[in-house]
Amino acid sequence: MALNHDLHSHSIYSDGVLAPRALLERAKANGVHVLALTDHDDVSGLREAAEAAQDLGIRFVPGVEISATWGGVTIHVVGLGIDFENETLLAGLAHVRGSRERRARKIAAELERIGIEGSLEGAYAYAENPQLISRTHFARFLVSRGYASDVKSVFQHYLVPGKPGYVAHEWCTIAEAVSWIRASGGQPVIAHPGRYKLSRDEMTQMLAEFKEAGGVGIEVVTGSHAPEQYEEYAQRAREFELLASRGSDFHAPGEARVDVGRLPELPRDLRPVWHDWD
Ligand code: AMP
Ligand code: MN
Ligand code: MN
Ligand code: MN
Repeated sequence: MALNHDLHSHSIYSDGVLAPRALLERAKANGVHVLALTDHDDVSGLREAAEAAQDLGIRFVPGVEISATWGGVTIHVVGLGIDFENETLLAGLAHVRGSRERRARKIAAELERIGIEGSLEGAYAYAENPQLISRTHFARFLVSRGYASDVKSVFQHYLVPGKPGYVAHEWCTIAEAVSWIRASGGQPVIAHPGRYKLSRDEMTQMLAEFKEAGGVGIEVVTGSHAPEQYEEYAQRAREFELLASRGSDFHAPGEARVDVGRLPELPRDLRPVWHDWD
């Protein structure tokens, strides 16, 4: 039987709700053999996760998910197999994290304009890592106040372009994210391409630039794709000769469609990102 690889997940060190050990325990219970923790813009959970994985007999892949901006659109670049002590990577991540508090203040100000008070404190109350204040924490606050029934519907009515609470933001460039990941010995992978509001031609251009910058992989089977998108991005993997990745993007029990480790296999003809991992 093929190993169950889940190469995209979050903990309390970004916008997940489980501590690394609880995440690994859940992964184990769900039959995961190889897990990557890929918190947004931060590596603080990796040591704890590696220790828990060792105790549980799961193979652990240190990872990160870097927020980048391309043509005004936020693009996430996952790094797999990073050295989380690499100075170049750590400096880059610190730079990206540094602008989150300022953005959070702007988001709160925007929400206040439509009469939603106290969202800054409210969001921080959900952020166990205050350096990693994210829209997800605002979303959980908005759900708690009854502005939406769940986190998914928050992102249909708030915090996204054209809706209240949206703030345009410049993260790093794709080339910077790729270079920091490569400097630390990791493999750069485009996260959940189906989520980006890009035309076909823009997607082509973005993937070409990612590849040109040294990117090597693309997520094909991810909890952030609807099943009918798997083949679309399998085609992109073939077109750009990118390695294919598979990951749930798990954040919290019950918050998304897919639980950790509960994904279909990659299409057989694709070369998986793990094909030459010893
Ligand atoms: P940020 O990095 O602060 O902009 O927050 C981005 C995070 O918001 C993502 O990593 C997801 O966890 C969450 N998110 C964005 N869009 C959605 C969506 N449509 N449904 C659920 N969560 C979303
Ligand atoms: Mn997230
Ligand atoms: Mn993402
Ligand atoms: Mn993610």
